[in-house]
Amino acid sequence: MTEEEVDLLCIGAGGAAYPAAFRLARAGRKVLMIDPKGVMSGNCLYEGCVPSKAVREMAALAGEAQRFAAPIGMAGSLSPSYTAIVQHKDHVQKRRYAQHAQELAGQAGIELRKGMARILDPHTVQIDDDLGSKKVHCRHILIGSGSDVFIPAIPGAEHCLTSHDLYKPDPALRDLPSRMIVVGGGYIGLETASFFAQLGSQVTLLQKGGQILNGMDPVMVALLQPLLPKALRILTDVDVQRIERQGDLRKVVWQQAGQQESAEAEAVLLAVGRHPVIPEGCDDLGIAFDHHGIQVGPSLQTRYPHIYAAGDVNGRVPLFHAAVRQSLVVAHNILGGNQPLDYADFHTVPTTIFTLPAAAYIGITPANAQGRDLLVGHYDFAEDSRAQILERMDGEIRLFFDPSSLRLLGGWIVGIDAGNLIGQIGTALQLGATAYDLARFADQHPMSAEGIGKAARSLL
Ligand code: ADP
Repeated sequence: MTEEEVDLLCIGAGGAAYPAAFRLARAGRKVLMIDPKGVMSGNCLYEGCVPSKAVREMAALAGEAQRFAAPIGMAGSLSPSYTAIVQHKDHVQKRRYAQHAQELAGQAGIELRKGMARILDPHTVQIDDDLGSKKVHCRHILIGSGSDVFIPAIPGAEHCLTSHDLYKPDPALRDLPSRMIVVGGGYIGLETASFFAQLGSQVTLLQKGGQILNGMDPVMVALLQPLLPKALRILTDVDVQRIERQGDLRKVVWQQAGQQESAEAEAVLLAVGRHPVIPEGCDDLGIAFDHHGIQVGPSLQTRYPHIYAAGDVNGRVPLFHAAVRQSLVVAHNILGGNQPLDYADFHTVPTTIFTLPAAAYIGITPANAQGRDLLVGHYDFAEDSRAQILERMDGEIRLFFDPSSLRLLGGWIVGIDAGNLIGQIGTALQLGATAYDLARFADQHPMSAEGIGKAARSLL
């Protein structure tokens, strides 16, 4: 029996996989994507970026409606419905799945099959699905199997919700819990804690170390923390010992400064990280990986030049937009005959913490400057017209430049429009802009982006 043959087999159909799949299909190559979900977009649309932002934006709008009800003459009781917000989130997911199905149907040369893939040898992948197993001969393999929620060995962890439970299509939690405990102060835990606090839950966040958003610039984090919703209580240096089920309630027991403490809540979210999903077969083939992911350099090749690992599974920059860029790097390198002609930049990737309000950063900031001197340009949102119109005057834009060339090296925004502004700073960084370039650009008034030019002009 002749085996099926493809130019590229993608393990997974998320952001790491489908941009490469489309690029190669457009170049006339035959591509097969395998994913147990049977739909495109991976965890980003299923339980990650998109559904969490659907909840975030609705929580933000509800907060703005409450804040401005009286000033704009709409006084009355405006209380948000979490049930309605979840319906909106489900609707957004459905709409995007339909869009992706259309994109797939409109592109010749790509097939997406529901199933699990495992690598048998450097050119053979086995696909397991409901109907059985099938072998496929692959000229190239793209491992884009992503990451999954990490469940720590805390007794009672099974009584907790994860981000998967909250954000997947048609989730079980559809009513706002009056109290919520969030275990973990990384960006997923902190974002979710801020949404629920904004919507009216009393939220307690328990963080193991001394700083929330561990690994991010502590000065930026210290600017963000006091701006978070008042109903969010953050405890640091906490060691969670166990979670107990008490009927409909959950009790979390922890140690802090040698004292045992506990609290009850209607819901507990466990958000202590994600781990890479390494497909079966990698180990046998000697493809190197550790707990961060499959080890690759900027060409994204494994020890086999025709086997690539992109996105969350390599752990370099586990963000959807980084996966998309990496996926295109893989496509270009396949088209170049596996002689690398494109490289992923793991350093110049914007990161936004989509809390309410948000913080965002890119490139070099003092915490990762490794002793390098930085010239700092600064703009305070207290001076900003848009921030004043929206009464969101807390926060700032800070830009970091090389002192001799005035070349932009990095920056952050804490507060209004952070998630949008970081893209503009990122573009300037990518293009090698200097403080002079930024200062010369007449950005729009009264928009928060004019603060980028003003931060640069603060140095000139
Ligand atoms: P990325 O953003 O890096 O693409 P995601 O986690 O969004 O990562 O997507 C990865 C996808 O890969 C998920 O939909 C996941 O179910 C799928 N996947 C994981 N392991 C396998 C496997 N062995 N075979 C096929 N698909 C897999």
